Amino acid sequence: MQIISRMDAIFIILYALLIPLLGALVFAASGQVIVLFIIPPLLAIYLWLALKRPLRRRRAIQLPVPPSWNEFLLSHSAYFRGLDDAGRKKFARDIVLFLSDDNIAAIHGDPVSWQTRLLIGTGVATMLHGRPEWEPPLPDGVTVYPGASFDRNYRIEKGNIAGQAPERGPLLITEESLMTGFANPGAGRNVLIHELAHFFDREQRKSYGRYPQRSRHGGSGSWADLLTAEWRQHLRLGSILPTYAAVNEAEFFAVACEMFFEKPNRLQAAHPELYEMLREFFNQDPRRILF
Ligand SMILES: [Zn+2]
Repeated sequence: MQIISRMDAIFIILYALLIPLLGALVFAASGQVIVLFIIPPLLAIYLWLALKRPLRRRRAIQLPVPPSWNEFLLSHSAYFRGLDDAGRKKFARDIVLFLSDDNIAAIHGDPVSWQTRLLIGTGVATMLHGRPEWEPPLPDGVTVYPGASFDRNYRIEKGNIAGQAPERGPLLITEESLMTGFANPGAGRNVLIHELAHFFDREQRKSYGRYPQRSRHGGSGSWADLLTAEWRQHLRLGSILPTYAAVNEAEFFAVACEMFFEKPNRLQAAHPELYEMLREFFNQDPRRILF
């Protein structure tokens, strides 16, 4: 993650130049002196709104990382444990940047513990580790439910939904499933990674119309084509992925991501092409981190 992307910075500069330019044109055409008085506050409001988040992020990374974080991350994240010092610093910085946006809430306005916030940040930092130019695809943030599950009517401790990635709205996750996902790193199941994968998947399809073309190892066609082919093969012949992966391509992708970030060696051995696709997608190879 970055404090601000280069593209955003360019747009802010362009708009900041455009406002006085347009004001000058309006003044030249109308001769209204009031226009000259309106431009400075208008520019100040625009800059305040545009720079609010980057400045907040900058302030956040200047503060020291709480000492309790290191111990917590070492005991809860196999991924963090596998990183070298520089990787751990980058990982913690990504969590700080993500948490500074303050977009995690519990239902009914209940407080969210720092451990829960840190685990959500851990999932985000894991998936973004190879993509510093990407932002977490969570414009509506994350909502944490207490207990282990909720039902279709969002009643707590009913039904069997542990997490959800709605088309619109925040990522939903229960506190217990969040903890369980990180407590058993070798299980290949992590609800947070799964739900985040849905958001990443959707964002990539939206931004590019379809997934970018595969670029390496002589791959032809798009990632989306490969994903469809792998999913069809799973339907026909099964795979090492859980049966839930058969529901549709989106679920196949999300389940594959869970395994990619938890049991990369197993996934690579059984599905080398799928592994390669995910390696390109996230621009990282978890086999080098989780051994
Ligand atoms: Zn899913």
